[in-house]
Amino acid sequence: LFQLVSPLVMFFMGVGQFVQGRAAIQRVDELARMPQEADDPAGAAGPAPFWQLAPHQPAVEFHDVRFAYRRGKRAETTQVLNGVSFSVPARGLTAVVGPSGAGKTTMFQLIERFYAVDGGRVRLGGQNIEALPLDTVRGLVGYVQQDSAAMRGTIRENLTYAHPHAGEDALWEAVEMAGLTTVIAQLPHGLDTELGDQGSGLSGGQRQRLCIARTLLQQPAVMLLDEATSNLDSDSERDFRDVVRRVSRRCAVIAIAHRISTVIDADKIVVMEGGRVRATGVHHDLMERDELYRRLAGSQLHAENGSAAPAAGPERL
Ligand code: ADP
Ligand code: MG
Repeated sequence: LFQLVSPLVMFFMGVGQFVQGRAAIQRVDELARMPQEADDPAGAAGPAPFWQLAPHQPAVEFHDVRFAYRRGKRAETTQVLNGVSFSVPARGLTAVVGPSGAGKTTMFQLIERFYAVDGGRVRLGGQNIEALPLDTVRGLVGYVQQDSAAMRGTIRENLTYAHPHAGEDALWEAVEMAGLTTVIAQLPHGLDTELGDQGSGLSGGQRQRLCIARTLLQQPAVMLLDEATSNLDSDSERDFRDVVRRVSRRCAVIAIAHRISTVIDADKIVVMEGGRVRATGVHHDLMERDELYRRLAGSQLHAENGSAAPAAGPERL
């Protein structure tokens, strides 16, 4: 009997997931006042129905956002975001740069709604995120944190622990987008290869892409990427750029960038300083007109050329 019941259970769980996914797509589309799938027949027919926001709306908008972390009832608070405004298109790569402490990570945490804003508004697909159900926000926004780590266990477990019902096709699609197909094919047991502590057995760049693949299984409409500070070798850096390119054709990617190669590739760069947006633009444009950007980019290039005096101060990207 068990042998008969278990595929049935699996089947209904699968249907449940599917129905849930459809409901979420529909709800977000409705909220964004968009006829369902009307504008994106190619995307709709694609192998994975990435959760969609209206493609003609910015994926994310900040309007005059103010925020301070509260430290207990009496203690004074420090203003961290002082009227931040910018928008992120539904597709493409938006890079965020700025000195340490500028408020970049805080901004990501507000997009995930880990905290509520004190003033102004954050919109997702044109909707105030405070009007969206929290699980819709968390479903739409995927977050690869700077310290995201691979764990002991198989690669498959690393990918699916948050999505235990992910099918084989979805799994391989995420692996492919994250540029890990060849890497995994060369491992002795493929997806079922055991990783050691903290993902030993993979390089730093591969571990980072594993975290990206894990987040892709969520099929986010917005992918937040807090780039690791450490330098990658040039092959890994190229692989990372390719992955970001591929992913940013499917959803909005916002990367807190520490590497010059990421900002050079970005469709839009937001320069933050002291809780404010100081400038936005593309690389050459900002090189010409923003002194802080020039300095940040310059110090990074310096470090990458392996010069004698790599910047170690707070002005690294
Ligand atoms: P960035 O990512 O640009 O380096 P953060 O957003 O991490 O900047 O931090 C901005 C400011 O907020 C810093 O002054 C930092 O000390 C402060 N901050 C960050 N996280 C917290 C927190 N959880 N509680 C209190 N203050 C915080
Ligand atoms: Mg940070």
